Amino acid sequence: MLFLSTRGKADLVCSAHAITRGLAGDGGLFVPQKFMALTLDEIVALHGLSYKERAAKILAQFLTDYSEEELLDAAGKAYAEEKFGKDPAPVFKVNENTGTLELWHGPTSAFKDMALQILPLLLTRAIAKTGEQHKIVILTATSGDTGKAALEGFADVEGTEIIVFYPESGVSEIQKRQMVTQTGNNVHVFAVKGNFDDAQTGVKRIFGDEALKEELAARGCVFSSANSINWGRLVPQIVYYFSAYSDAIAAGRIKAGEEINFAVPTGNFGDILAGYYAKLMGLPVHKFICASNSNNVLTDFINTGIYDKRREFKKTISPSMDILVSSNLERLLYCVTGDAEKVDGWMQQLNTEGVYNVGEKVHKKITADFFGAWVDEQETKETIRRVYNDYNYLLDPHTAVAWRACEKYRLVSSDDRYAVVVSTASPYKFSADVYAALKGDEDGAQSFDALHKLHEATGVPVPPKMLQLEEMPVLHKDVIEAGQMAEAVKNSI
Ligand SMILES: *Cc1c(COP(=O)(O)O)cnc(C)c1O
Repeated sequence: MLFLSTRGKADLVCSAHAITRGLAGDGGLFVPQKFMALTLDEIVALHGLSYKERAAKILAQFLTDYSEEELLDAAGKAYAEEKFGKDPAPVFKVNENTGTLELWHGPTSAFKDMALQILPLLLTRAIAKTGEQHKIVILTATSGDTGKAALEGFADVEGTEIIVFYPESGVSEIQKRQMVTQTGNNVHVFAVKGNFDDAQTGVKRIFGDEALKEELAARGCVFSSANSINWGRLVPQIVYYFSAYSDAIAAGRIKAGEEINFAVPTGNFGDILAGYYAKLMGLPVHKFICASNSNNVLTDFINTGIYDKRREFKKTISPSMDILVSSNLERLLYCVTGDAEKVDGWMQQLNTEGVYNVGEKVHKKITADFFGAWVDEQETKETIRRVYNDYNYLLDPHTAVAWRACEKYRLVSSDDRYAVVVSTASPYKFSADVYAALKGDEDGAQSFDALHKLHEATGVPVPPKMLQLEEMPVLHKDVIEAGQMAEAVKNSI
């Protein structure tokens, strides 16, 4: 299987190259030449497999320059019981027609672990395959969850350095604590003054800085990315859509072949795109409900076909979705149009004018598979409280946004079929906001205090790693201006 760029001006590459490079040379994103379909029998049969076997089977469809043993070995290590518990991606039955796909049982308690535990293993093997002589420097801008998951995945991985930039006041206390306490001899963590888009823009600028790249190459290093623009980040996320579906059949929730809906809390459009790819591979899905918070640029896009990032950036209690430029939408546009020139044009327009319009035909194709809805702060908090009171089930703010978006979809469509709400973080990662939502806001408990109070109030078990955080020493204290990021990179390696 070969990979091509969404902007059509880069050479075709094999999967190992797509993973080591991260971004195509023309600034586009790598996409597979085609999608191999699984038969319904194969999908049903997934239920008899362990998660690592399910993962190896799906990965093998795309990563054709890896052997089956390599993929099974990587998946076995990534999704080991010590890291994820017995089931890495269980579906919890919340009510008769809704389940939550809990993707936060990994080391950092957010769904990013599903990809970032296996990406370093795929990447180190890719380095060996492509004969890459350089040390890989992973640069990551994070709104909170990617940073920690990338640190955890890449810490002490030979042949790599990992540098993470997070917005100083844009992440939760617990998220910050997770990052600044990270151990490992190849890890570097910086707080950047500004918001996530400032940090992300800084990283993109570094990726485009030819002089810096040359200086790095002279020191034997090359940049790569752990953000979801990397194909190696995306492909492991396809697995759990199949996994959830086969589990739903086995649990008697649906008949084999019956279409279901997925509601996905969306930021960079990576997670939901992986679901769409699963559909292209034969998974019976009716609609993907694309859930946004007050940064509702995707809702507007799905409703109108116009992507307009010229709006205020809003800080919310679901920070991992605080995003105005959803990078992976480019892959969807390529998939729907098959026209790299058009995609290239739209992306140029987004850069220069801040807006593009895909036109009626493309818009119609997108709304055939996607429904967009957004949820404000008040509704998010109410949803956390209501779902807890009604079902004794505790949602984190991101999952609450998706839950509410799913309800909104059901209201306007009258489509009440079985839906899976993708649950992307442990509620304890956002203890202060979740606790405040449950208690009606007047209690201002912060950080670990809120974590303990949330546990006392609900009895929901706290992930053990999160409890340990309180005791761990702070190792990374640097706070820098966005303009100092390139300097920070140079000093780190
Ligand atoms: C990253 C993240 C999201 C958004 O996922 P995308 O792939 O960026 O759309 C949603 N929820 C949580 C908790 C996240 O960490």
